[in-house]
Amino acid sequence: MDFDFTIRDMNLTRIVFVLTLDRKKMTERIVIAETGDAILRLEQNAGDVIYDQTRPLGELLTGFEADPDRRWNANAARLHESYGKVFPFERARWKAVKPCADFLREKYESGEPSAMFAAMRTWEAYLNCYHMGHGPERFLERTLPLYKPFSRSLGLWQERPASALSDAARPADSQVELWYPARKRPFECVAAYASFQPLIYYYLHRIEEWRFAFQECKACGRIFLAKSRHREICGEGCRKAQAVESKRKFDERAKGDMLERVHETAYYYWYNRLRKLKRQKEPDEEKIAAVAAAFEVFRAEAVKRKAEVKQGESKLADFSAWLIEQQDEIDRLTLL
Ligand SMILES: [Zn+2]
Repeated sequence: MDFDFTIRDMNLTRIVFVLTLDRKKMTERIVIAETGDAILRLEQNAGDVIYDQTRPLGELLTGFEADPDRRWNANAARLHESYGKVFPFERARWKAVKPCADFLREKYESGEPSAMFAAMRTWEAYLNCYHMGHGPERFLERTLPLYKPFSRSLGLWQERPASALSDAARPADSQVELWYPARKRPFECVAAYASFQPLIYYYLHRIEEWRFAFQECKACGRIFLAKSRHREICGEGCRKAQAVESKRKFDERAKGDMLERVHETAYYYWYNRLRKLKRQKEPDEEKIAAVAAAFEVFRAEAVKRKAEVKQGESKLADFSAWLIEQQDEIDRLTLL
């Protein structure tokens, strides 16, 4: 079924937002449809529905419509104002509210179920309240509660159900319609109509009860729902990326260690040769001076070459080969 944002009456009965959570499979399923169709879909996989998707658990809360600028409220205010105007023709009325309908259609087409549902409910309320007594007031009563979680400052996953519930302004904000498992529907569902708040609390409460936790993925930074606080990677893709990165770091470190080791070994080779010369019973001062001078040259050159390896300008193997060549040099000098 497709929703039509025109002033043509669609004759819809109550459209509901139905949620069912699967703890084992770690999934959420959302169905948006008229009540009867939603039940048909859940029980017999039939029914004409507007939305039916199964997603990873927690996605509704992390991807929930966000509206920090309160554009939804501004849009409702414009629709509210239009009630007071006298339109001689339907065409003039349509022209006046078309930007509002366009805003709602754009939200509907975003594919985010919370935005889709609020867009449909808003338009449905606009059409239904038009010919009612106290229509403008009723319209706002029906729509503003839906937008409440859109303009929150924190992410929904950061809310604690208990503290959020104590702020529930009206009884309706803490009540949820629960559909018990029945007939061919073995799972529990909750349905929202007037407000998302109770459905959000229900969701947060279940997550708390199951001791799952929202985490920020260490690899990609995405917020995801984890089976425990110890899981810090969101999925297989990120796990692989993380493993590649760890191996790269490990190799880099190992290479660095190896570089220090070959340099140190060569240095002490020279140092010990020189010390041996100095400790002889009759030290050969001339030879000592020659070796000490060569040692100075070697030290300076080795530091330079080591830095080049570190910066990736030359290879560790070449540095290593050069150090061995230098050992031959000191051997030659000490044997002279
Ligand atoms: Zn990730």
